[in-house]
Amino acid sequence: AKQDGRGVFRFFEPALDAAARKRRALELDLREAIQSGQFRLNFQPIFDLKRDRIGGFEALLRWEHPTRGNVPPIEFISVAEETGLIIAIGDWVMQEACRQATAWPAHVRVAVNVSPLQFRNSGFPSVIFQALSHSGLSPDRLEIEITESVFLDGETTVVTLLHKLRAMGVRIALDDFGTGYSSLSYLRSFPFDKIKIDKSFVDAVAEDRSAAAIVRAIVDLATALHMETTAEGVEDRDQLSELRGQGCSSIQGYLFSRPIEGNMVAAMIGSAMSA
Ligand code: C2E
Ligand code: CA
Ligand code: CA
Ligand code: CA
Repeated sequence: AKQDGRGVFRFFEPALDAAARKRRALELDLREAIQSGQFRLNFQPIFDLKRDRIGGFEALLRWEHPTRGNVPPIEFISVAEETGLIIAIGDWVMQEACRQATAWPAHVRVAVNVSPLQFRNSGFPSVIFQALSHSGLSPDRLEIEITESVFLDGETTVVTLLHKLRAMGVRIALDDFGTGYSSLSYLRSFPFDKIKIDKSFVDAVAEDRSAAAIVRAIVDLATALHMETTAEGVEDRDQLSELRGQGCSSIQGYLFSRPIEGNMVAAMIGSAMSA
């Protein structure tokens, strides 16, 4: 038997498989990353098709590890969620996103991804409150992006909290729409400000008639419910013209711009780029 750091005897050490060891190493590195400030934010513009200008930017987390290099979010967000580290990381993201957004023109919003665990944490409303008060950002310039999975345990508490955030002036977007389950019932339970149409539909929108029909149905539904729509992952002009024709409010994707560093945002807003 061997003693680990916490004084627990492990009799089956060899059974700790390679995958578990990798995850454990990643967890330790994530803790270190928080301490030593290895995170930063990139921002991807969301182009408003109705007003023909950039309406906002989505904050996207970037981790530059000294030896691992750039670790993409899909490789560490799930570990951060399983270990609870997402609370501290998400807190930092919220503060930093609001802080940077105060330097942008007043009509430009910042969208921040909020993981279900972070959202359901009892400290979440005060995290938002503090990020807003410390930065001085007007609440209506902050949009939080949540996925349907926040509703999985306890729809009533989630809806109550959403109303509380809305009362503060914060905007709420439903992210990755169409990828989860029973999406439509959530649209009835809360009046989101925006629906983000998942890339998987956008990818096929110009070629595949059923994808185009689904996107049209989502846009029509959102419009009837007074919600805006953002098409995610728009990569080519054919997709753009199809989405524009369908009345989609805004687009986000490599066609307009990849995510950029925070210090490039002002220049991008300044150069009157048009989709
Ligand atoms: P998401 O919220 O759906 O973010 C959009 C992702 O699509 C981003 O990937 C973005 O870089 C990518 N993307 C945008 N346009 C295009 C395009 O035209 N083509 C392609 N192929 N990809 C495009 P990223 O930055 O790697 O983030 C992946 C996911 O990680 C995000 O998906 C989100 O779920 C999560 N994530 C990122 N930042 C945060 C954060 O601060 N907090 C939390 N909780 N999750 C985050
Ligand atoms: Ca998102
Ligand atoms: Ca998304
Ligand atoms: Ca996604």
